[in-house]
This record gives sequence, C-alpha cells and structure tokens, in this order.
Amino acid sequence: MRLDFGAERVLAVMAHPDDAELLCAGTLARARADGATIGLCSLCRGDKGKSPAEALPADLAAVRRDELTEAAGRLGAEVFFGGIGAAELLVGPERRRRLIAVYRRLVPTLVLAHAPGDYHADHRAASALAEAASWFAGSAGHRTEEPPLPEPPAMWWTDTVDMLGFEPGFYVDVSDYLSLKREMLRCHCSQLARGADADFEPLEALMLRQAGTRGAQVGVAGAEAFRIHTAWKRIRAW
Ligand SMILES: [Zn+2]
Repeated sequence: MRLDFGAERVLAVMAHPDDAELLCAGTLARARADGATIGLCSLCRGDKGKSPAEALPADLAAVRRDELTEAAGRLGAEVFFGGIGAAELLVGPERRRRLIAVYRRLVPTLVLAHAPGDYHADHRAASALAEAASWFAGSAGHRTEEPPLPEPPAMWWTDTVDMLGFEPGFYVDVSDYLSLKREMLRCHCSQLARGADADFEPLEALMLRQAGTRGAQVGVAGAEAFRIHTAWKRIRAW
C-alpha cells in the first residue's frame, strides 16, 4: 500500500524548533512531494537550548527562529511560531487558543503531534495541546479571527525521541528524504554545538540512528514511525 498525501494539508505541531527533523520531517517532505500543503509549528521558542549554558547567546530565541525559518524553507513548509518560553509549555486556555488560531490559518486535514508519553515535559504538553486544539478548532463556540475548521483533522502521534516506549502502528518510508532531514537539521547551528558536550549525543547521529533503526525494522533505508490517534472524528479511513 502506498499512502498518497496529495489531497492533504498536513500540520506538524512540535514543542521545539528542531523536533520535526528527528520525528516527522521525512513524512512532511513526502507529503509535499505528493502535492500536499504542509505547515510546521514550533510551540516553544527554544530559548534555553541544548548547548552548555555558558555557550548560549543572549538572543537565542531570535537565532532559533531564524534557524527554524530556514529549515522550514528547505521543506517548503509554512512556519508557525507559538512564542512560548522553553520549559514553560503548560496546557491552558490561552495556549490552546493560540494553537486553535494556527489550525484555522492552515486548515489541516492531518496533524502530526508528539506521542503523549514522550520524554520531555514540553513534548507531553505539546501533545495534549495539539490533541485539544484538533477538536476545538472545529467548534464554532471557540472564537478566533479565522472561521472554525469544517471538520476536525485526523491525528497521528509521532515516534518518541530515541524510540523509547513507543509501539509503532505503521511506518512511512522516508529513505529518499534522509539527506533533506540532515540538511534541515544542519540549519539548527545553535543546537549542533551540543556535539561537543559529552552529555549529549550529536543530534545528527541521533536522527540518523533513529531513522535507520525504524527503517531496518521494515526493510527500508530510513523510516518514521507513527500511531493513529483513535479518537472520535479524529480517525478516518485512508
Ligand atoms: Zn523537543
């Protein structure tokens, strides 16, 4: 079976500016190649970064915004910034409204969001916000400048970072897009510095290992794993 994203509008809702490269950028690239409209939303500014604290530039949020804009440009995705401070991503009505507005601007038919049990508190909160917004964005009672979605988008949970505790429901072959994933990751220059920190595996090595492992599980060079969110009105036939 070959998925065809041609008629879709796909929005990835990620916590941090460099999460998509690891978890779903290959799938977004495939969707784009099929003719889909794609969007990439980073809820947090990423202003605390992964570099050693003494190496953080004062304007890290601006740096990371530029890095994400460049990476999204390589992908051909419209980019959305949540503008929330890193490690401050809590679920609440104001943040929910902000994400509902993003949904109503892109009008997604499919949302890719962090798995509910991923390792980072921001990822788990982003997961809950993406899920809540997928319902409320279609509800006329929740007013924003844009009109409500005609129907809630389908949702897929992305793999967890380093595949821990995640049972894949299906895999997307992204073998043809590994070089694009690497190219996008290299746009996040501020984060690549962490390769010099013994506490962190370089991001590129982590990305290639995860894509390669998921690929090996299904007999292709590279894959991204997902699970379908089986909730009312967010699930549909493909
Ligand atoms: Zn993250």
